[in-house]
Amino acid sequence: MTRTTCPYCGVGCGVSVVEGIPRGDPDHPANFGRLCSKGAALKDTLALPDRLTAPIMRGREVGWDTALDHIAAEFSRIRAEHGPDAIAFYVSGQFLTEDYYVANKLMKGFIGSGNIDTNSRLCMSSSVAGHVRAFGEDVVPGCYDDLEEADLVIQVGSNMAWCHPVLYQRLMAARDRRRTKIVTIDPRRTATAETADLHLALAPGSDVMLWSGLLAWLVNNDCVDRDWVSRHVCGFEESVEAAQRAAPSLSFVAAATQLKTDDLRNFYEMFARTERVVTLYSQGVNQSASGTDKVNAILNCHLATGRIGRAGMGPFSLTGQPNAMGGREVGGLANQLAAHMGFVRQDIERVGRFWNSPQMAAKPGFKAVDLFEAVGDGRIKAVWIAATNPADSMPRAGKVREALSKCPLVICADAWLTDTTKLAHIVLPAASWAEKDGTVTNSERRISRQRAFRPAPGQARPDWWMFAEVGRRMGWGENFSYSGPADIFREHAALSAFENDGQRMFNLGALAELDDAAYDHLPPVQWPLPKPGRGPSGTRLFARGGFPTPDGRARMLPLSPRADEESLDFPLTLNTGRVRDQWHTMTRTGRVPHLMTHIAAPALALNPRDATMRGIADRGLARIESAQGTVVMRVSLDDGVRPGDVFAPMHWTDQFSSSGPIDRLVHAMVDPVSGQPDLKGTPVRVSAMEECWRGNLFRLAGGIPEFSECVWWAKAQTGTGFGFELSGFAPLAKEIHSETVLRRLLHIPAEAELVTYSDARKGTFRYAGIIHGRLTACAFFGPPGSDFPGLDQAKALLGKEISAMDRIALLAGLDSSGSKKAGKTVCACFSVSEDSICAAIRDNGLKTPGEIGKALKAGTNCGSCIPEIKKLIASELDPVA
Ligand code: SF4
Repeated sequence: MTRTTCPYCGVGCGVSVVEGIPRGDPDHPANFGRLCSKGAALKDTLALPDRLTAPIMRGREVGWDTALDHIAAEFSRIRAEHGPDAIAFYVSGQFLTEDYYVANKLMKGFIGSGNIDTNSRLCMSSSVAGHVRAFGEDVVPGCYDDLEEADLVIQVGSNMAWCHPVLYQRLMAARDRRRTKIVTIDPRRTATAETADLHLALAPGSDVMLWSGLLAWLVNNDCVDRDWVSRHVCGFEESVEAAQRAAPSLSFVAAATQLKTDDLRNFYEMFARTERVVTLYSQGVNQSASGTDKVNAILNCHLATGRIGRAGMGPFSLTGQPNAMGGREVGGLANQLAAHMGFVRQDIERVGRFWNSPQMAAKPGFKAVDLFEAVGDGRIKAVWIAATNPADSMPRAGKVREALSKCPLVICADAWLTDTTKLAHIVLPAASWAEKDGTVTNSERRISRQRAFRPAPGQARPDWWMFAEVGRRMGWGENFSYSGPADIFREHAALSAFENDGQRMFNLGALAELDDAAYDHLPPVQWPLPKPGRGPSGTRLFARGGFPTPDGRARMLPLSPRADEESLDFPLTLNTGRVRDQWHTMTRTGRVPHLMTHIAAPALALNPRDATMRGIADRGLARIESAQGTVVMRVSLDDGVRPGDVFAPMHWTDQFSSSGPIDRLVHAMVDPVSGQPDLKGTPVRVSAMEECWRGNLFRLAGGIPEFSECVWWAKAQTGTGFGFELSGFAPLAKEIHSETVLRRLLHIPAEAELVTYSDARKGTFRYAGIIHGRLTACAFFGPPGSDFPGLDQAKALLGKEISAMDRIALLAGLDSSGSKKAGKTVCACFSVSEDSICAAIRDNGLKTPGEIGKALKAGTNCGSCIPEIKKLIASELDPVA
């Protein structure tokens, strides 16, 4: 058995691999054996095709020596001619700590620039900045156990049920035991909000006002802990004054946040009267032009009440990526140095001494948005992008693509080809999750080993090795002569302890002497590590103060809520985020068929009122425009989205839909302190597009449907082939009736049988391609509103021998048993559809997720679908509500 960790979200679940099959590790303290739908599908990602197995230079496979020599020579030349700041690295929260350490050391200690930033900038850099401002260091004060020991849990801008599902399940189980009250603060009624006792659907961006109102209310009602504040906090009076000025009354805050006064009072009273309060927050707080202020507004309330560092209480930032926290420890952000040190003279000199650096970076480098701006305007002449896909995931993705296409040297390290690797001059084959050794740190500061359990294919190598090799070839051989990840970890741990007499809480000195075998067997450990007589240790921090500031006190900050400017041209606010079964730009999860059955295509969620005003029907097509660009997408009516807001998933790319990445539309506004992009607040306008026809295409081959123009499409893998949803916003081309065109569309050769059915009066056309009695493709076209066979039916027949009955049934839109298609899949683990669950509720009188689980197995594996099952029970049992 190999114990490792899940490579997706920041919960950091333990995985045990037995005979090559990953399962939840029952002994890991993050998940105790549970995995969510993505983690449970890891086994299906192990055999994904099309891995990169050799370095590629300008389209040709080459050996490692050729690629690395070229990179080292070009970096040396550019550094000599243009200075170190003409080179940049853009790396990833998917990196292991050891990858991060070597990349950061090469850039900041040897190339001599601060220009290494990470996609974690997009994920949690506002939390980092907020922690540093309040605590003096980027430290999360609590642990996961606090969620189970709290009496009130507040979820702010966090759709935990979908984005941190295993932790959410732990919270739900604790709630069943101790009746924990749950408040969700989110403009959108998400799956998480559905299960809350109170949902505050505040106006986007009004969080600072809401929390300033709470601080003022706590003070006005004598609910602060003045004794604790007097001993451990400074800035209290100024912060309270600012809060009282900003939020003079409950009704003022209610108007500014667009909440009901009674709901607001209810929330404030719950907070005031509950000692054990945990405030969880993630991207809805961080990904904002005022993200750092939002974080500090939350921290202010916990500091004012002394609710921090004790069982069941404290502010808690949930990290998005598996090793966002490890990146913060290593200094993967451009404005950090390493091991929680910053760009101040003493730290620069200290790190320089430790690394024996010839040329330390003297100042922070470009943060992500500015970094690609500098690539675009030529200040950066070489960029190395690793384990991330900025051509799809960065704000203003179109501009990022333009910038990369102009850059003289783009290097990309990845395991598969992506929209970013297409723009690279050199593509390096990276080892993937199952093949990599190292460590990751989860949201509760717990360091776990990620262990390889199979060899990397071809010439694929871990990222740390590539950076070390380039460092050696640039002339710093001694400094990059690592024997393996254990060697790197020892150095990282030693740096954290170097000249550290307790002034930096991040100190892994106790692990700096681990030998290779001990590193190999390292169990999950949480820092601060126990060290007799040398500062705090354990799972909770700051209950008795001891903040890593010069005077040992935390800082409360006076804050001013920011008023958003209204845009007449772009009156709606675009919020982007995750869906339950997908991860980032779908390079792995998008190719696992059953993970595509919950949500198979991207859709813009729009309030029915806004849709009616614009003449847009459910599942109709809409044009979405921002100052950055335009995309066409299907619309899904959703009264959980506030009027004036729209929501789109962040995952789909050019590989999966003609809509491409939604980040093409997202503006480049950033938080002024953290530099984190405002990914949830882009002004847009939405208008109806006439949909002239609709179609479904299923075939064994992937690729992009060969329609010339005016077609929206989305692709999903079915297991036996590929399914495409199609919509035309120009009349169905006459050529669709041409056999040549049809054969090209269906990917069937001339010798294949082409079965056709058409009803010109109804505008309905159906085609099937059959080779040697097997169905190799089928296509269905009809007017808008048509309902066609779905992925489930196509999967059952594609590639299989097809009987005469099957042919007739398929072309009639039924499967061979005569049943209609099963509808959306709710439980991805056991492929249980919404229709089956609703039928079981109606016909068998089932009333709880437990009863549904017993009858259909739905929700009994990862539990990610339980919120949706609860919603279906509620709507079936009380359809009026
Ligand atoms: S919650 Fe899911 S995605 Fe996150 S670490 Fe656990 S199994 Fe992986």
